[in-house]
Amino acid sequence: MQRLGGSLLEQLLDLDPGYRGPQVDCGSGHEAAFCGYRQKIVDTVLGPVHLRSAYSHCPECGHGLCPRDQELGVTDNSPSPGLRRMVARLGSQEPFAQGQWDLAELAGLHLTTKRVERSSEADGERVRAVIEQQAKEVLSGAVVPIGANEPVSKLYVAVDGTGVPTVPADTLRTSGQVS
Ligand SMILES: [Zn+2]
Repeated sequence: MQRLGGSLLEQLLDLDPGYRGPQVDCGSGHEAAFCGYRQKIVDTVLGPVHLRSAYSHCPECGHGLCPRDQELGVTDNSPSPGLRRMVARLGSQEPFAQGQWDLAELAGLHLTTKRVERSSEADGERVRAVIEQQAKEVLSGAVVPIGANEPVSKLYVAVDGTGVPTVPADTLRTSGQVS
C-alpha cells in the first residue's frame, strides 16, 4: 500500500515539474535562467519518491535554484514536510538512533540516524525561532494574548514535586519514604 501510494504521489508531482518560464526571480532581485530539469529522490511518509524539478541558474549570484522544491518544502536533502513532522516528534521524545528504529518499525520508513538528527535539530531550531519571536512580540505589547485584558507583568512559577526516581544505592543511608 505504501509503495502504491508512493508511486501515485510520484506521478502526481510529475504533472507539474515546476517550469515557471525561461527567467525566474533568483530571490535577490536578479533573473535566473532556466537550465533544464533535475532529478532527485525525496523521502516522504510514503517512502522515497523521485522528483523532477525545473532548475534555473543566476549568473550574478552564481547559484542555482529549483522554485518547485521551495514550494514543496523539500530544498537540499530535506525529507518532505509530512515526514519531517514525524521525525521531529520522534526526535523530541527519544534518542535519534531509537527514533530511526521506531520510524522503521511503525511506519516502514528508513532514514539514517544522522538524518533523523539533522532533520529534528533543524526543525527544533525553527520552533525555537518562532517561540522567541512570539515572546518578543508579547513582551513588546505588539501582540496581546487572548485572556486577561491587562498584560501580565509578572508570572510566578511553582514546582510541586512528590517523588524522585531513584535506585536502591541512592537511598542506602536515607530514612523516610522512597517513591
Ligand atoms: Zn541572483
